[in-house]
Amino acid sequence: MKKNDLLNLIQSDEFIDYHQLKSDDALKQSPELLDELLTEAETKFDQLLEMPDETLSFESFMDPFFENDEDLNNLFKAVDSFNSTDSSELTRSIIADFQPRLVAYYNKVNLNPALYQKLTSIEKQELTEDQKRSIELVIRDMKVAGVHLSEEKREELKTINQELSELSEKFSNNVIDSKAEFFYEIQDENILSEMPAEDMEAAKQEAQKRDSKAPFVFTLSPPSYTAIMRYCTDEKVREIFFKANNQVARSGDKDNRPIALKILELRQKKAELMSFENFAEYILQERMAPNTEKVLETLKTVAEKAGQAAQENIQELKQFAQKETFGEWDLAYYSEKLKKEQFEVDDKTLKPYFSFEKVLEGLFGLVKKLFEIDMRPADVTPYAEGARAYEVFHQGRLIAYYFLDPFARPSKRPGAWANDIRSGYRNSNGTHRLPIVINECNFPSPTPDKPSLLTHRDVETIFHEFGHAIHVMLSSHNLANLNGFHTEWDFVEAPSQILENWCWEYDVLSLFAKHYETGELIPKETVEKLKASKNFMSGLFLTRQNEFGFLDYLLHTEPLPKTIEELDERCYQITDQYSTLKKFEGYSMYTAFSHIFAGGYSAGYYSYVWAEILEADLFEKAKELGVLNPEFGKNYVNKILAPGAKKPPIELFRAFTGREPNINSLFKKHGIEI
Ligand SMILES: [Zn+2]
Repeated sequence: MKKNDLLNLIQSDEFIDYHQLKSDDALKQSPELLDELLTEAETKFDQLLEMPDETLSFESFMDPFFENDEDLNNLFKAVDSFNSTDSSELTRSIIADFQPRLVAYYNKVNLNPALYQKLTSIEKQELTEDQKRSIELVIRDMKVAGVHLSEEKREELKTINQELSELSEKFSNNVIDSKAEFFYEIQDENILSEMPAEDMEAAKQEAQKRDSKAPFVFTLSPPSYTAIMRYCTDEKVREIFFKANNQVARSGDKDNRPIALKILELRQKKAELMSFENFAEYILQERMAPNTEKVLETLKTVAEKAGQAAQENIQELKQFAQKETFGEWDLAYYSEKLKKEQFEVDDKTLKPYFSFEKVLEGLFGLVKKLFEIDMRPADVTPYAEGARAYEVFHQGRLIAYYFLDPFARPSKRPGAWANDIRSGYRNSNGTHRLPIVINECNFPSPTPDKPSLLTHRDVETIFHEFGHAIHVMLSSHNLANLNGFHTEWDFVEAPSQILENWCWEYDVLSLFAKHYETGELIPKETVEKLKASKNFMSGLFLTRQNEFGFLDYLLHTEPLPKTIEELDERCYQITDQYSTLKKFEGYSMYTAFSHIFAGGYSAGYYSYVWAEILEADLFEKAKELGVLNPEFGKNYVNKILAPGAKKPPIELFRAFTGREPNINSLFKKHGIEI
C-alpha cells in the first residue's frame, strides 16, 4: 500500500474498510503519514488564527476548524485501536513515537488564548441552536483544559498532559503484558469434571499452542479465567487464579504501582493549578453530577442498601457450601452451583442456546424491530478471526459503518468496549462523512467442532456495547462534537446499560436463542427460570461495582499517599472496607485498573451506577409500553439517542420520562428492598 492509498482510504466518503489499515504494510506507512497530517494541521491552524476578526463567522471559522485535524485524528484513532486490540511491537512503537507530538498539538490548540478569544466572539453572534451548543462545548473543553490560566501555568499544564499521556500508555501496556505472562498447566482432568466441554476444548488447544506437556492450559484471558473460577472443583487452583488476576502488574519491569502514584500526583497538581481542591472536583465540570458530595452520597446509599443484601447473599452461599473459610475465589464457583440448584438454570445449560452467531442475529433483529436499524453485512477481509463489517441503515438511510471484533486473543486488552474510529460530520464540500464505529469483545473463539458459545452475561455484554454503538451512530450530526460520545460522561453508560434489559425477555430471546446442535428454541420455562434468577446475588454484584467506585473516588478526593507503600495500603484499605469478603493480603486490583489509570473513567467510575439509575428509570417506560413496542423505540431514538450531545442529558431525561431521576429505580431493578 502506498501512502496515498492510505490517505485515500481514510478520506473516502464511500465504504471504508477500516480493517485494511491493519495490514503491516499500511501500519508501516502510517508514521510518515501521521507526521505529514500533523504538520499540515499545525500550519492550517496557524493560518486560521490569522483570520481577521471582521470575517469571523461560524461557517468561515468553525467549519474549517473542526475539519482541520479530522484525517489526522482518524488515522491515529485507527492505529491506537489496533494497539488495543492486537498490540504488537510495531503498533506500540508508532504510538509511543507519535503520541507526544499529538499531545503537544492538542495542548497548543486547547490552551490557546487567541483561539479562545475568537471562539467567544463567534459565540456572541447569531447562531443556530446546534451551532451555539457546539461552540459552547468547545469553549467549555478549553476552559477545562486551562486556557484562562497564566502563560506560566499553561506551560506547566502542557508538561503534565505529556507526562500523563505517556504514563497511561505504559500502565495499559503493563496490564496486557503482565496478564499474558501467566499460564497454568492442569494435568488432573478430575478437577475439571464440572466444566463445559467447550471451555475444556479451548484449554486443550491452548496447551497445544504452547507445546505444553500438560493436556490443559488456562490463562487470565477472560473466557479461560471465568471457566476456572466457575467450574474448577479444586479450591487451591481457583485461589491461584484469583490471586494472579488481582496482582497483575505489581512487580518487576511491569510494575504499575509507581506509575499509578505518579498519575495521581500529576492529576492532583493539575487540579490545584486550576484552583480545585482535588481531581474529582476538576472532573465534575463536565458531568451531570453537581458535586463530589452528591457522588459520595450516591455511592454510600448504594453501599448501605446493597451491602445489606450482599451480607445476606454471603450467608446463603456459606451455608450452601458448608465451608468454614470462604474466600473471594469461592464466590463464582458456589454461586454457579447454588444458582443451578435454586433455579435449575446455569450457564452450562444456557450456553448451547447462545451461540455467538445466533445472538448477533437476535440483537440485529431486535434493533430492526425496535429502532428501525438495518445491519447489512459488508464484504471485507477481516483482520482477525471472526471480525466483520456492516453498513448500517436507519429508516432506509445509510447512517454508519460498523465493525465488530468479537473474540479474545492474548494481544487484546481485556473487557469489551465501543469506539468511534471516525466521528460523523459534514465536511466543507457538503458531504456527510459517515461515522465508523467499532465494538471489541473478548468472547471465546469457536473451536473446530463448536461455535463460540456465550454465557448470558456475555449476551448482555454485546447488547451493552451495541447500545453505545447505536448511540453514536444515530446521533451523527453535521457537527462532530454533538454526537452521543460527547455527552456528559456520567450519562454515556445509560444508552448501553439499558439495552441489557432486553436480554431477559422471553419475547426477545425467543427470536434467536436456539440450541446450536438441535436447533431447539430455548424453552419458555428455562427463560422463566433465568428471569427468576435475575436478581440472584445482586447485592454482591452491586457491592463489587461500588467497591471500584469508592476506590476510584476516594483516590481522587482524599489526600494523596506519599509513597508506594502508602498507596498500596490505602487501596487495600478502601477495597477491603467496601468489600463483602475480606481481601487477601496483597490484593491489588488497582495495578490493573485501566479504566481509571489508562481510560476515561478517572474520578468517574461512579458513572456506571449513576447511569444505571437513569437507565433503570428509562426502562420502566419501556415496560409500561411493552418491550417490543416500536412506539417506545421511536420515542427513545428521537428523545434520547438521536439528540446525542445537543442538550444536557438531564433535559433529555426529563423530556422522555416527565420526571426527575429516582435512585430507587436502581434498587427496584435489582430486587433490593428499599
Ligand atoms: Zn459501557
